[in-house]
This record gives sequence, structure tokens and C-alpha cells, in this order.
Amino acid sequence: MSTADVVVVGAGVFGAWTALHLRRSGRTVTLFDGYGAGNDRSSSGGESRIMRVGYGADEIYTRWAMHSRDLWIDLFAQIGRPELFQQTGVLWTPRPDDPRVAITEAVFQKCGVTFNRLSPPELQKSFPQLRFREERMALFESLSGFLLAQRTVRAVVDQAVREGVEYRQEFNRRPAGSGVTVYACGPWLPKIFPELLAGRIRVTRQEVFFFGTGGAPLRYFAPPHMPVWVDITDEHGAYALPEIDNLGFKLAFDRHGPQFDPDTGDRSAVGADAARAFLAERFPGLAGAPLLDSRVCQYENTSSGDFLIDRHPDFENVWLVGGGSGHGFKHGPAVGEHVCSLIEGKAAVEPRFSLASKSREPQRSVF
Ligand SMILES: Cc1cc2nc3c(=O)[nH]c(=O)nc-3n(C[C@H](O)[C@H](O)[C@H](O)COP(=O)(O)OP(=O)(O)OC[C@H]3O[C@@H](n4cnc5c(N)ncnc54)[C@H](O)[C@@H]3O)c2cc1C
Repeated sequence: MSTADVVVVGAGVFGAWTALHLRRSGRTVTLFDGYGAGNDRSSSGGESRIMRVGYGADEIYTRWAMHSRDLWIDLFAQIGRPELFQQTGVLWTPRPDDPRVAITEAVFQKCGVTFNRLSPPELQKSFPQLRFREERMALFESLSGFLLAQRTVRAVVDQAVREGVEYRQEFNRRPAGSGVTVYACGPWLPKIFPELLAGRIRVTRQEVFFFGTGGAPLRYFAPPHMPVWVDITDEHGAYALPEIDNLGFKLAFDRHGPQFDPDTGDRSAVGADAARAFLAERFPGLAGAPLLDSRVCQYENTSSGDFLIDRHPDFENVWLVGGGSGHGFKHGPAVGEHVCSLIEGKAAVEPRFSLASKSREPQRSVF
């Protein structure tokens, strides 16, 4: 039982930032996490997450990502840990005739995003690590990069505690006391609210791989030469992050894997051969690189890929916050701020994030 004004259940990136913002707005806050903040079962675990602002036509996410980036950087400056954000740039490599290029550029211009457009020859010259069998151009977000995921979540929780949040490593399944409860339980949300959310949030198994760059010219695969690379053209939705801290070059696929249980699911990866083959094709300098490590994480997908941030339909004081859908991490600061405004009655539920907009039929439109 907690006597706090607000109980936040789940100290992943969404819950941690929600607790911090609520505390800063003057509330007493208790934050619970059964497995611990940024634990290896959570969607916010692991070493890194991409911090990009490109979302095609989905301007709301571009704006939220830009705002979140500022808040991340402010926090890291405040706690003296600027290394938690690595500003390597983010490189998109679509086909020149991809209609999403013009749409993305229009949103970038409207929102004031700093970016460069690279012609096919410029792409080849600037990033010779990458090989394509067909013509590609590039958009380069120079102020983007990646966040050190687990470490940043723990840093947010540590700061929240320093500012007065009570943190408890305990499970909490029912609304406690008469105050407000925020359920920011990531892939556990459909287990906690099965009738409401089973099928509306689908939890899928996702694998990531880390390859050793030691046998290759290291400088090509580490900052400042190698940025984050994202490919929406490839049917698998491949992406790669440069080597840092000698942890290996990260490669993964964004396509949804099979259904997964975050408590009991086996976390040994099975897709290493496919990852090796893709690596050799796209990054020939890493052909034959040894696999150093792999991880199994899970996405918590809504039907469209839009977040779920809404009041529970049966409980006035209960809020549901999740549905990060494989792209939520970067938005943690803006999500927390928005939840705080909702609780204070200073904002309305964003229609795209409403429960009513979440169908049980997958129709992914946000990437
Ligand atoms: C492989 C992979 C790659 C990704 N890549 C990116 C990326 O590059 N960029 C990006 O922006 N996003 C990315 N994402 C998405 C992003 O990581 C998630 O959307 C985000 O971390 C979700 O955070 P969350 O706080 O909602 O959930 P979680 O991090 O899962 O947190 C939920 C927490 O709730 C706790 N909990 C659950 N039930 C209870 C209970 N009853 N009582 C107490 N505690 C409880 C859990 O222990 C957990 O810590 C990726 C995700 C994965 C898996």
C-alpha cells in the first residue's frame, strides 16, 4: 500500500520518465518495478536504442523525438553523464524514387530538423562501409544517434529518487490506495489487463546480434565514421549501430517476430545465420566477423504502432501507458511529460494514442 499521490507501476523508460516529471510537478510518487529498473526482461533493457527524428509523414513523432532529445541531453548534462547519448548521426538509405523521401524531407523542413541529402555517388563516397546492389541515396540526421538504453533508464530512476521519488523493487498488480495509478508495464500490460488489452498489444520476439569488428578496419565501423544506419527499403527493416565500448557492431531486423512471453520466454537467439549473411551482403568489410553476443528482447506492438496513453475505461484514476511498438524508447521524456499533463488535466488524450484507436487487427503504419 502506498500513500503517494501517484503510483507508477513499471520502471522502464516510460514509467521512469513519468515518475520524474510527476515529482517535478510537485506530486509524491512511488515507482514500482518487480524485476528492477531497466532489467533484462524489460523492453528497455540492453545496451542501446536509436535516437532518430525521421518518421516519414508522422510529424507528431518527429516533434516528440526532437523534444525528447532535448530533455535527454538536459538530464545527462544535469547528472554529468553526456556519454549516455552518442551523437553519431542517423543515416537513412532509401531508393531515390521512394515517395517517402519527399514526405520525410517536407516534415524535416517544417519542423526545423538538421539534415543532409546525399546523392547516390555522395552516399558511396561518404559511407564506403555500405554496399547496395541497387541505387540508393541517403538522408542524414546529423544531430541524432543512439542512447545507452539500460544505463539511461537506471540514470533516470536514480535521478528521480534523488529528487524525492520513492522507488520499490516489488510487483504491484492492483491499483493501490485512492490516488492515481499509472501502469507503464510495457509487454506485461496485456497480462495485467487481459480482457482489455490482449490482442490490442501483441508482444513479439525480437533478436539483436553483435559482431566483432577487430579483424576489419575498426575505424569504418565505429564513430565517428559509422553512424546509426536504418533501412526501411529492405523487407526485413534492417538497422545497425556502430561499435562502442568494444561491445561489437549491432545488427537487427525490425520485422515482427513470433509471439513471446516476457516472463517465461526463452532468450537464446536462433537467427544468427541470417544475420551473418545479411552482414556480409550489406557490410562486406565485416564478412566472416565473429558473433560476439546476441539478445532476445520483445516489442509490445499496438495494431498501428501508435502508443497507448489513455485512461482505463473502468477506473477514473488508472492510466495505461505503453505500446512502444519497437520505437518508443527515444520518446520516454515526452511520454512522461504528456502523462503528467494528462493527470493534471492540462492536456487531452491524443486521439492516435487512445484506447479506442487500438484495434485487434495488426495494420502497422508507424515505423
Ligand atoms: C530489440 C529492440 C529494439 C528496439 N529499438 C528501439 C530503438 O532503436 N529506438 C527506440 O526508440 N525504441 C526502440 N525499441 C522500443 C523501446 O525499447 C520500447 O518501446 C520501450 O523500451 C518500452 O518501454 P516501457 O517502459 O513501455 O516498457 P518496459 O521497458 O518493458 O518496462 C516495463 C517495466 O514494467 C515492469 N513491470 C511489469 N509488470 C509489473 C508489475 N506488476 N509490477 C511492477 N513492475 C512491473 C517490468 O519489470 C519492466 O521493467 C526497441 C525495442 C526492442 C525490444
